[in-house]
Amino acid sequence: MRVTKPETLMNKPLHNIASSFNAPSASADDPIVRELTAQRAMSITQSLQTSLDPTRLIEVFSIEVGALIVHQGVRYQNDDLELDVKLGRQAPHSCTYNLNIGDEPLGKLTFRRDRKFNKTEIESLEQLLCSLLYPLRNALLYQDALQLAQKDPLTGIYNRAALDDMMQRELSHARRQDSSYALLILDIDHFKAVNDKYGHIIGDCALKAVANMIGTCKRDGDLLFRYGGEEFVVLMRDTDFDGSKLLAERICTFIEASPCTCSGADLDIKVSIGVSVLQENDSPISLFARADQALYSAKRNGRNQVCVAEPTE
Ligand code: GH3
Ligand code: MG
Ligand code: MG
Repeated sequence: MRVTKPETLMNKPLHNIASSFNAPSASADDPIVRELTAQRAMSITQSLQTSLDPTRLIEVFSIEVGALIVHQGVRYQNDDLELDVKLGRQAPHSCTYNLNIGDEPLGKLTFRRDRKFNKTEIESLEQLLCSLLYPLRNALLYQDALQLAQKDPLTGIYNRAALDDMMQRELSHARRQDSSYALLILDIDHFKAVNDKYGHIIGDCALKAVANMIGTCKRDGDLLFRYGGEEFVVLMRDTDFDGSKLLAERICTFIEASPCTCSGADLDIKVSIGVSVLQENDSPISLFARADQALYSAKRNGRNQVCVAEPTE
């Protein structure tokens, strides 16, 4: 193999570099392969500084690696952060790496392609992966912090900040898809009396139980939030007037019928629910306000019931 000076390599079109790298005679000890890999690693390090989004990092990494080691698809999985990034397409051959820094797991990365990876490519790929580890860890820590900031520490469900963040996006998506959308606000009835009678620790336990019960009733695509003290919100995708009423009534009945025992105390938990359905000119605020009004009606009408806001358009 011809040894080319680094500056000449830099000016070579990427596909030429890849083809000389992928030549059957190439070996990991070959100076040209070593040089190409080192250059690519430097380029990767620079490119990965531009984002703290793990999906974007994997995409950039795949493009950079692709200049040396042609591949058809990449998949990155991180169960802790519920990430599953799939880029490109499926192909019969693959190599998979469990990424770690020390004993800290960073997820699993799989490269797929139509022909087998040769030894040289695998060795270079492994070197290039080292350039991914620290930027990926920073991005994962950042995502972890973002997710934590959106969770309610008591119940583990989304908090109000997450609701404010997601609602605009959800409604825009529903409008683009021309699909129905609904929101419910749930408030525990006479919850102050639970605290007064049993104390706040048992009150906290009841809040967790209610969050779990709503979680049991809601469908997979619905989003559950703790809005404030003893108030919860569910955003319901693809749900119209009848569907939202049905789900709200299911939650209300389920909570009333389910035993709720906290530290030996049998609590009699009931809830009131207000529901609103997305209208043409709704903003997140107007949609929420109608459900809030409906909730007040449910309270006024005697509690332990559902009230659905009538459409105003
Ligand atoms: P209503 O049926 O009208 O909703 O009556 P309520 O007693 O549920 O409503 P009120 O607004 O008077 O009281 C809400 C109570 O929720 C008061 C407050 O102490 C309690 N609360 C709010 N946040 C928490 C919390 O994090 N833990 C506990 N244990 N209690 C909480
Ligand atoms: Mg309340
Ligand atoms: Mg209440």
